[in-house]
Amino acid sequence: MAKPDFYEILGVARNASEAELKKAYRRLAMKYHPDRNPGDKPSEEKFKEAKEAYEVLTDARKRAAYDQFGHAGVDPGAAAGAGGAGFGANASFSDVFGEVFGDIFGGARQGGGARAHRGADLRYNLELSLEDAVRGSTVKIRVPTHVACKTCGGSGAKKGTSPTTCSTCGGHGQVRMQQGFFSLQQTCPRCRGSGTVITDPCPTCHGEGRSEEQKTLSVKIPAGVDTGDRIRLAGEGEVGQMGGPPGDLYVQISVLDHALFVRDGSDLYCEVPIDLTTAALGGELDVPTLDGRVKLKIPPETQTGKVFRMRGKGVQSVRGGATGDLLCKVAVETPVNLTSKQKDLLREFDQSVRSAGGKHSPRTTTWLDGVKKFFDDMKP
Ligand SMILES: [Zn+2]
Ligand SMILES: [Zn+2]
Repeated sequence: MAKPDFYEILGVARNASEAELKKAYRRLAMKYHPDRNPGDKPSEEKFKEAKEAYEVLTDARKRAAYDQFGHAGVDPGAAAGAGGAGFGANASFSDVFGEVFGDIFGGARQGGGARAHRGADLRYNLELSLEDAVRGSTVKIRVPTHVACKTCGGSGAKKGTSPTTCSTCGGHGQVRMQQGFFSLQQTCPRCRGSGTVITDPCPTCHGEGRSEEQKTLSVKIPAGVDTGDRIRLAGEGEVGQMGGPPGDLYVQISVLDHALFVRDGSDLYCEVPIDLTTAALGGELDVPTLDGRVKLKIPPETQTGKVFRMRGKGVQSVRGGATGDLLCKVAVETPVNLTSKQKDLLREFDQSVRSAGGKHSPRTTTWLDGVKKFFDDMKP
């Protein structure tokens, strides 16, 4: 049996607008919905058909495919799957209507307190020095917040007046609305569920009952935090509306660059310049750690790029684990601004080194040998 055309099912023209489709579907749903026709198989079939047609034709991509290829263009399984398992026996009437006709029936599906909203979560970007991040600290931050309006005490009504009971719903916040066969409970459109209306709004908050202010919070930063960590302050976000709970405040940590150290996880890196003589003869250096200076012993014949690991002088992560290390990378500094006497001394030194035949600079010698071999190999 050929499947009926989706446009015919809905009884609309092929160029029907979305509003027309919705109207047509609504008309059919009213007529054939299983809740209206319990146990009536043909009605249920009609309802399913209408629902499928509606779902396909209101999906721009599927509608285009249907227009071009007919039923073959829209996999019926996919159409049902995308809509959430199609029309199951337990898809209640209000669910179907809430999806499609939410704009017509308003908040009909919601119970009382429809205006109660959880406050928004807030995010605060906090920049910390490396020291504060590693050791932990307490930081005061100022964040915007909504507080009950001081002028009206949060009622939203002008001073000397008070909100009056909504005459539309008699203060219930909900009204019953007749729509075709159905009588639906709906949030009162006049007072939006609060049961009261403000006839004379407070000039400060314009009837909102709340105003924005800065609040100061003391945030405890645990030791070991790093860039990308965030601290959640439950309930410190925006206040809720109409009795809704407040949101949370997220303090997003970003650690500033440090003049001496670079952090990588629980290790710290630091570059230490050493002079030629110390590099050659060895010596002792003062190197910085986050806990103060420590002595670093430089052995004789230390080469540039050598890394000295100072155990336990790094960072302990906020997530625990062992304290990391401080890795000091030495760089031998070539002397500058030499006097002619110093230059003469270096030349003299150079003479002495060269006459020894390369044993004082084995890397250079090895490298030069390598270069020589490279060019020798190239010869035919
Ligand atoms: Zn009302
Ligand atoms: Zn006010």
